[in-house]
Amino acid sequence: MLEQIKILKSEVEEQVSSINDLVGLENFRLEYLVKKGKIQNLFELMKQAPAQEKPIIGKELNVLRKFAESKYDEFKAQFEDNRKTQPSIDLTLPGRLSNIGSAHPVYQVMDDMLTIFTEMGFAVAEGPDVEDGLHNFDSLNFPPDHPARDMQDTFFVNVNNSNENSENSENFVLRTHTSPVQVRVMKGMKPPIRSVMPGRVYRNEAINARSLAEFHQIEGLYIDKNVSFAELKATMMTFAKKMYGENSKFRFRPSFFPFTEPSAEMDITCFLCGGKGCRVCKYSGWLEIAGCGMVHPNVLRSGGINPEEFSGYAFGFGIERVTLLKTGIDDIRLLYENDTRLLNQF
Ligand SMILES: [Zn+2]
Repeated sequence: MLEQIKILKSEVEEQVSSINDLVGLENFRLEYLVKKGKIQNLFELMKQAPAQEKPIIGKELNVLRKFAESKYDEFKAQFEDNRKTQPSIDLTLPGRLSNIGSAHPVYQVMDDMLTIFTEMGFAVAEGPDVEDGLHNFDSLNFPPDHPARDMQDTFFVNVNNSNENSENSENFVLRTHTSPVQVRVMKGMKPPIRSVMPGRVYRNEAINARSLAEFHQIEGLYIDKNVSFAELKATMMTFAKKMYGENSKFRFRPSFFPFTEPSAEMDITCFLCGGKGCRVCKYSGWLEIAGCGMVHPNVLRSGGINPEEFSGYAFGFGIERVTLLKTGIDDIRLLYENDTRLLNQF
């Protein structure tokens, strides 16, 4: 019996030396100090020992129990002290970086474009998204039978709940271009006029890799005495070189728009093939980036400006197209899927 106490004593001493946290301490208590623990078990066994040995065994067991209990109390006090003095968070862990949002790539490009134009002396103007037919079509010299007036190309806005008669309601559209803002600017101020007009535009078109039903344009308008096509070309080239770099190559092609005469389109060398020809540029080596021209006399008249006295030029960029060219993204739909894997890159 005394031998058993000796073995248990050395076991307790060994266990005590390996306690290093509250979990270890609790395990120690369950092993030795509870009612069914190893020390109490020996007290039970003592009942079977010869009567004359009982006092010695009892004394030894009590010494062992006191030793275990005092060690338990000692560790408990120590660990609880530590818990009070140590902070409950680990200050040495590296911090978690929070994600900071950024402007959408299309709006970053729009900002870049506006910065270049304002540095060149243009002021920024805006107009309404819901336009009347007068500003969207008539003032811009669209003939009454122009296909853009068709339901196929334009979203018409139903404003029947107003007091106006229903014939009038068909005259409201989601603007198909930012050009109506030109007329609003002309009506609101006297030449010289130097304005750029950014905004969202809407077309009733099928969505595919090259076109969306809702996109952004920047319109430019310059009106003064003796404005020439050469000035238009110089403005476009200066802008394009700042936007795409000094070494980019451009060309102007004759084109047609109802609101300018003469009209042109400006192309840049294809960013994918470098001019050799590929799927994106339809094997021409060139990509269209802007439409432009000299403001049609009828449009000047719509804006209350005398075409005999003043002339001007206008241009329009599709901002999504410019964004694709700048970023090398080859599908316009990716810009609006809001996949964070793409957005995080800007
Ligand atoms: Zn190409």
